[in-house]
Amino acid sequence: MNQDTIFAPATPPGKSAIAVIRISGNDAFIVMTRIFRPLRKKTDLLKSASHQVHLGSLYHGEVLIDKVLVSLFKAPHSYTGENIAEISVHGSMFIVQKVLELLSSEGLRMARPGEFTLRAFLNGKFDLSQAEAVADLIASNSDASHALALTQMRGGFSSRLKELRQKLVDFASLIELELDFSEEDVEFANRKQLNELLETIKSEVNKLASSFARGNVLKHGIPVAIIGKPNVGKSTLLNAILNEEKALVSEVAGTTRDAVEDVMVIGGIAFRFIDTAGLRSTRDFVENLGIGKTYEKMNQAQVILYVVDISTTSAEEIKQELQDFAEHIEHGKKRFIIIANKTDLLFETPHNFAELVEMETIFISARRNENIQLITESLLKSADVEKYDDNATVSNARHYEALTAIITSIENIEHGFLAGLPSDLISTDLHLALHHLGTITGEVSTEELLDNVFSKFCIGK
Ligand code: GDP
Repeated sequence: MNQDTIFAPATPPGKSAIAVIRISGNDAFIVMTRIFRPLRKKTDLLKSASHQVHLGSLYHGEVLIDKVLVSLFKAPHSYTGENIAEISVHGSMFIVQKVLELLSSEGLRMARPGEFTLRAFLNGKFDLSQAEAVADLIASNSDASHALALTQMRGGFSSRLKELRQKLVDFASLIELELDFSEEDVEFANRKQLNELLETIKSEVNKLASSFARGNVLKHGIPVAIIGKPNVGKSTLLNAILNEEKALVSEVAGTTRDAVEDVMVIGGIAFRFIDTAGLRSTRDFVENLGIGKTYEKMNQAQVILYVVDISTTSAEEIKQELQDFAEHIEHGKKRFIIIANKTDLLFETPHNFAELVEMETIFISARRNENIQLITESLLKSADVEKYDDNATVSNARHYEALTAIITSIENIEHGFLAGLPSDLISTDLHLALHHLGTITGEVSTEELLDNVFSKFCIGK
């Protein structure tokens, strides 16, 4: 299917100690024999063992490009399952460009995004959910997202799906058995047994599907909104929080271009301060944000930091504002924390504030950097850290959608049973459930599905 040999830079553009260009396909080694002169004259690349590194010089015709290292991985013992050669050159964009031109002139083709991983998938190196985990792993920016991606890549999730598929297949064979005997009007399979099996399957799928809310948050970070009136100190607070934790992660260019967000990792969990652009730009813009925008922001968040200037705002006023908010926030598991800022302008903290406001309140001075750590500690409480290390956390929206479709099919089967539908109708829903399960692992795949998944990868992966 993939007869052509492809190449791509495997390292990002820019100056670096080393840059790697990767070549995969039937001709990978043959091309190397034409453009690479090993230091040890006796070396024969075509006869070299797999997983060997060779030192030598790379030439375009008679023009020396660089002194390089070439690593060889022989099919099928490589990432893609094909012959792979990786050329490590000095990390100059000019040299990389020269190598790419050279490989192109040798008749090889530049790889599309994710094409190496696509080939690995097509060659059975791993299933689709594992391939997707490779992209997640590269994008991971916290202990939690890293652990999730690793588990999925190593097949933890896949083996859960395999068990599930087996149960569905068992169920199918019980139903088919009944189908075969329907002529004689025998209800062969015991409906009670079938129902029990279906219950187990359903609760398993439900468990996976319901883990998505959490998995999604662990993968992308917990969304936090900082809101409040102009001049209460929101941007000062944001800067203070981000400075508190040195492990500031800037979003990798190209992954989430549209969302300019500040991400901070506390205790291995990423927190994503949503829509901070307004806090960073000019006064006018902040003033123009408007109340509608604020509600929108609150509804995107899981944790809301509501900043007030405690030196000019009374507990009664805060209480009134909270009531206004309450009408506009969707109900759910949001945390709302009042940040009473500018305590440095107070002689004493207002007494009976807690009784009046009845909501978690943290008194700080953003300008003086006082009590900022109380906020970060409180944020970590939102994360529920312990539970993410099992194999059953779904963090991929595509998988979640498939699981939801499976649940629908199972519910249809249940209804079918209750309505006394004939087994062949029930078996249609069953095959639908198996189909959706297959799209997660890629057992069932279309070109469109694969394009969709792999186009999100970077070039060279
Ligand atoms: P924003 O409009 O809510 O983003 O408010 P800013 O962060 O821009 O702050 C508005 C003004 O309040 C600035 O002059 C800040 O220096 C000041 N400010 C912020 N935090 C504090 C604080 O804790 N104490 C005092 N005294 N002033 C503060």
